[in-house]
Amino acid sequence: MHVDLQEIMLSEQQIKAKVQELGQRISQDYRGESVVLIGILKGSVIFLADLVRCISVPVVFDFMAVSSYGSGTQSSGVVRVLKDLDHSITGKHVLIVEDIVDTGLTLNYLINNLKSRGAASLKVCTLLDKPERRKVNIQIDYHGFSIPDQFVVGYGLDFNSNYRNFPYIAVLKPAVYQN
Ligand code: 5GP
Repeated sequence: MHVDLQEIMLSEQQIKAKVQELGQRISQDYRGESVVLIGILKGSVIFLADLVRCISVPVVFDFMAVSSYGSGTQSSGVVRVLKDLDHSITGKHVLIVEDIVDTGLTLNYLINNLKSRGAASLKVCTLLDKPERRKVNIQIDYHGFSIPDQFVVGYGLDFNSNYRNFPYIAVLKPAVYQN
């Protein structure tokens, strides 16, 4: 294990099983339809890449980038769109794919932003959820794991752009971000 990590919270096997389960549920729920998955850069990239391969209905995917934490570990509440969608979602069934929902401020902004574009439906899928820290109430339709209030990295999640490539999700030693 990397020296900056405190413990592994979710193993590669646990994540794989959960992603398969989510993919199956999504495939059943969207049977007979096609779905536009919107990945939120950059944290959701690994999750989205694995998830789409577990979905059997027709899928297209697009990406948005928004600013959330900058280089710290606390949400600022200020959300800025850094990259918008490449294609229109009007009339489409849309599923937002997030890595983690913490305060919910980022997702709340995204839901309101995307709702105004005339999608046929709009749902949310997140791999991780930190319910203790929620500041706004949001409906999460597909939900991987609820985790305690600890800062985690790996499987797409970073700190200062590092650790995204770890195949598991691990707790970062507080000393790493308190410096
Ligand atoms: P929210 O707006 O819900 O507070 O924050 C959502 C975003 O904050 C996530 O997409 C992610 O980028 C970041 N975030 C929240 N908690 C964590 C965490 O434990 N680890 C990492 N690496 N990012 C987190």
